[in-house]
Amino acid sequence: MSSLHLYNTLTKKEEEFTTIEEGKVRMYTCGPTVYGRPHIGNYSSFLMADLIRRWLEVSGYEVLHVKNITDVGHLVADQNEGEDKIEKQAKQEKTDPLAVAKKYEAMYLEDEAALGMLEPFKRPRATETIKEMIELVNTLEEKGFTYETEDGIYFSVEKFADYGKLSGNTLDNLSAGSRVEVNDEKKHPADFALWKKCVGENAHHILRWDSPWGEGFPGWHIECSAMSMKFLGDELDIHTGGEDNIFPHHECEIAQSESVTGKSFSRFWIHRRRIDMGSEKMSKSLGNVLSIVDVIEKGYSPLDLRYLFLSVHYRTNLKFSWKGVDDSKKARRKVVEWMGEVGSLKESKDAKETKEKKEKQEHPSSGAVGKYTEKFIDAMNSDLNTPQALAVIFDCMSWSRNQKDWSHNALEALNDFIAMARHTFGCFEPEEVSDVPAEVRALLDERKVARDDKDFKTSDKLRDQIKELGWEVRDEEGEQVVRKM
Ligand SMILES: [Zn+2]
Repeated sequence: MSSLHLYNTLTKKEEEFTTIEEGKVRMYTCGPTVYGRPHIGNYSSFLMADLIRRWLEVSGYEVLHVKNITDVGHLVADQNEGEDKIEKQAKQEKTDPLAVAKKYEAMYLEDEAALGMLEPFKRPRATETIKEMIELVNTLEEKGFTYETEDGIYFSVEKFADYGKLSGNTLDNLSAGSRVEVNDEKKHPADFALWKKCVGENAHHILRWDSPWGEGFPGWHIECSAMSMKFLGDELDIHTGGEDNIFPHHECEIAQSESVTGKSFSRFWIHRRRIDMGSEKMSKSLGNVLSIVDVIEKGYSPLDLRYLFLSVHYRTNLKFSWKGVDDSKKARRKVVEWMGEVGSLKESKDAKETKEKKEKQEHPSSGAVGKYTEKFIDAMNSDLNTPQALAVIFDCMSWSRNQKDWSHNALEALNDFIAMARHTFGCFEPEEVSDVPAEVRALLDERKVARDDKDFKTSDKLRDQIKELGWEVRDEEGEQVVRKM
């Protein structure tokens, strides 16, 4: 049996996954800054984190997944400059920043649920973790890693010898390529704010807290260190994010966290490559962003998008297209249908008599199904090779449809395989009956009566009516199975 290997951005190679504590994974994911509805590109990295968690769970780990919500302190220029993204949006919407954060957090949570993402262990908000941030900045100050300027407390990157180990942006590289600094009080261009004072351009910052350095608010990077340490301790097994987070955000998280604890902050750093729109990057500034709402309005399920994102390896740039979503919808439906068919398979009596004796000694996942199970596990263990794992599902589908006799053990192994595939991918659950509109449900009820009366003429007529409403009904084992066309 293969063991899980993951590509670690920190070491730039695939490494065997091990944990600090046996059987337990401490995983932190940089969540959204809630100043607008996140675009589908943002969700691709959250989906990768969800996939990692799901696969670790299938592999028998307990996963403590913490995913934050940034509701203050993320400045437009990511590092130290510009306006707070949320306060800027609040001005535009003529409301206060907390109302903005609350509104977009609700949209984000709605989208995550629609995308089938599992609820994390904790979802800390930055505004609720200020005390811990101030403590971290205090410790960094005591240890001599910081300096104070007119407008804040800065981390001195020159004091941290390992700066650049994640992104390759070492101090030499950065000095050579640095642009003219806006803030001439900074000692090095890569120094970043841990705490911003409510002075100068931030004099009117609405969200502010008392601190040893006067009223102010936290820098973006320190938030994630504080929120991860609060719930997961000094050392993480996995830290995830989008590739845009590698620099400066994650580089800065490492610098400040390791300076505080003297320990390695995270063993694995895993990053999702970005989603492109045609040849361009999807970004708010380019105005080519799509949200989950756009996907739904085009007539797709958010789970079709989930399938699309998982059909490409997470370290490959995915080129988004509506054709891709459409193909994903069809492929996903095929899998869901097949899994439904398997649910109604019965073990054959003949098979029972001839094969059961032999299979009794075997493990349920052995035999032909076991081969697919093993291939699926190998694919996922090989740095989460989801396209390969999907190919195994389709192979197993073709094979199983050609099987006539099912022994008890083989059927059990097939159902286990399906349960594993469902938990891993999170988009193959049977369609909820509650999704079926009331109008269609009423026709289905009528049709059931007609069929019970053997009135097939009426039954067929009702089938056509249901079809006109965009739903297809099939009869399986005396039950009506309905799906959206
Ligand atoms: Zn973060």
